[in-house]
Amino acid sequence: MLACNLAFAGCSRFSDSMGTNEGSDGAMFDCLLFDMDDTLYPLSLGINLACRLNIQEYMLNELQIEESVVPKMCLDLYREHGTTMAGLKVLGYKFDDDDFHAYVHGRLPYHKLKPDPVLRNLLLSMPQRKIIFTNADRAHVGKVLLKLGLEDCFEGVICFETLNPYNDGSRVLCKPSVEAMKAAIKIANVDAHRILFFDDSARNIASGKEAGMSTVLVGSSRKTEGADFALTSIHNMKEGIPEIWGRMRSEDQSDEHMVHLHQPSAVETVQA
Ligand SMILES: [Mg+2]
Repeated sequence: MLACNLAFAGCSRFSDSMGTNEGSDGAMFDCLLFDMDDTLYPLSLGINLACRLNIQEYMLNELQIEESVVPKMCLDLYREHGTTMAGLKVLGYKFDDDDFHAYVHGRLPYHKLKPDPVLRNLLLSMPQRKIIFTNADRAHVGKVLLKLGLEDCFEGVICFETLNPYNDGSRVLCKPSVEAMKAAIKIANVDAHRILFFDDSARNIASGKEAGMSTVLVGSSRKTEGADFALTSIHNMKEGIPEIWGRMRSEDQSDEHMVHLHQPSAVETVQA
């Protein structure tokens, strides 16, 4: 099931009764796009930090970049080009994409990821199409979803290989570029205004909004630019966004949500 889900290069519409809820229960969305890392599990697990350290080690050991400049360069390239990997390509470094991904993801502490039956039940109860949208490679997605016990919860995956099928080695298409957002929307084959996009990155949320999607900032109690919703945890979807299930927001939920929106925002994260 997992292999089948992850194997496709693009997404097609569901053919079963879960395919669309237009006119069925009045829900506002046809498709839910989920970032994976630090969105479907918490940043506090330390996967992100471990990934960043592996990237820095790759820069040092495989690309022979001076040790003293590696940490700042890693962060600067991430900020300017979307991912450090994309920035390294722009600078002219030559390396194999699969080798890079195997290096930075191969030694991640995957054992910290545990099955999440609460999230699984939430996802399975959502009537919309559900798709992963990540900058990571397919192998990493497969491992994470398997560890979380969510391998059969998504129609498909839009990942590094999907966005860069004919990569010539010099340019990487990735979030947060609006071009990547539009590519994902095209692959999902849904009107952008009928998509709800979940991500823990404020800059991804801003560009997702610019591309026309409704947006949910995850891991934060405060909405940033372009965020329609903010959830401290993905587990709060039902209380925070009852619209997914075609329900109207109650007065209590509105008040609770507003309280959440005035608390500290998410920290910046770096992923491959
Ligand atoms: Mg993320």
